[in-house]
Amino acid sequence: MSTKRHQGLTTRLLHADRLQPIEHGAVHKPLHLAAAYSYPSSRDLAAVFQGDKPGYVYARQGNPTGAALEQKVTLLEEARATAVFSTGMAAIGAIAAALLKAGDHVVTSQFLFGNTNSLMQTLQGLGIEVSFVDATDVAKVEAALRPTTRIVFTETIANPRTQVADLAGIGELCAARGLLYVVDSTLTTPVLFKPKDVQAGFVVHSLTKAIGGHGDAMGGAVVDTGLFDWARYPNILPPYRKGDAAGWGMLQLRKKGLRDFGATLRPEDAHRIAAGAETLALRMARVCDNALQLARWLDGQPQIDRVHYPGLSSHAEHERAAALFKGGFGGLLSFELKAGLDCFDFLDALQLVIVSSHLADNRTLAIPVAHTIFYEMGAERRAAMGIADGLVRLSVGIEDADDLKADFEQALARVS
Ligand SMILES: *Cc1c(COP(=O)(O)O)cnc(C)c1O
Repeated sequence: MSTKRHQGLTTRLLHADRLQPIEHGAVHKPLHLAAAYSYPSSRDLAAVFQGDKPGYVYARQGNPTGAALEQKVTLLEEARATAVFSTGMAAIGAIAAALLKAGDHVVTSQFLFGNTNSLMQTLQGLGIEVSFVDATDVAKVEAALRPTTRIVFTETIANPRTQVADLAGIGELCAARGLLYVVDSTLTTPVLFKPKDVQAGFVVHSLTKAIGGHGDAMGGAVVDTGLFDWARYPNILPPYRKGDAAGWGMLQLRKKGLRDFGATLRPEDAHRIAAGAETLALRMARVCDNALQLARWLDGQPQIDRVHYPGLSSHAEHERAAALFKGGFGGLLSFELKAGLDCFDFLDALQLVIVSSHLADNRTLAIPVAHTIFYEMGAERRAAMGIADGLVRLSVGIEDADDLKADFEQALARVS
């Protein structure tokens, strides 16, 4: 079959399994549950262990079902290679464990997913220095760089306030300085944005979110775009300086991050995520449309103070988001109720929208942010991230937009 680059994202995804022969002529890649793999010749097993032949040895470090998903994510990002993990956090943790050591420095956005923020603090305790900066401004990132800086990390659209990092500016900066640029593109997905287009070296996804899409499987991915020159990265250990330097980073990530920490994606979950991903582009189109309609409608309601959504022209980074993201602005928005209105009363008045912490389910979810997912970090960090006490985060689903509006309308009426 043809693998021409001009094929669309959904086509590439649907036909990815057939790039390699599948037993019995099956149209879908089957589930492989085996923990261990064997070869007719013991010399072959040794060659696979030593990386001289492709294959699997023990499922913790890779298995055919995970590999089928890895191939799909690589196709989606038009990248070089992908490693999948048991969760998005495992993927981010593996980058840190595999590629950083005490004394290294990381520059990261100060607007981070709560658990990533917490992980960065753990790294500080391990002797890795971390600077949290306002990544919407590349000058702030540049000012934080040190001779020991190894990684610049940012998300595309921040959760929950939807700040959009200066993704292109930071990419230019990292390319000029030879720094590894890691972009967590979970909220944009490859449908809206490919971090490779702004020169990212690694892309991170929580596959639990939009790529899996159905809230029934957890997973994470690290994608190597092929743009970073690993020969320049000082922490690649001698056993992984083998063959083409383009593969060094992924090899060390798989060995030191995946194999040694063991946060392997279960084959059943890899299979579910791959099936969910087939409709990613369809779901994202609907989600983006619903989110924009809702953001505009909420913005016009007298009970609502501020709506944060990159698709609104009032958003500080609207122009940037419109230039970078194709086809929409994602499914995350947040808003503050007018002073005096209680966000708990409002949430309890919702009948259709579900109060839950997840993101990118097919169902619309709402959560009071300061009291839940960003509670542990404390009032000071929340203030720095622009999180007001009454901020409500919405993860917009694929329901019919009028039904969502009707639910918000009746809930707002009940708290007014
Ligand atoms: C959810 C999320 C993660 C963590 O992913 P899990 O699969 O829940 O571990 C990381 N980054 C972002 C932006 C997320 O939304």
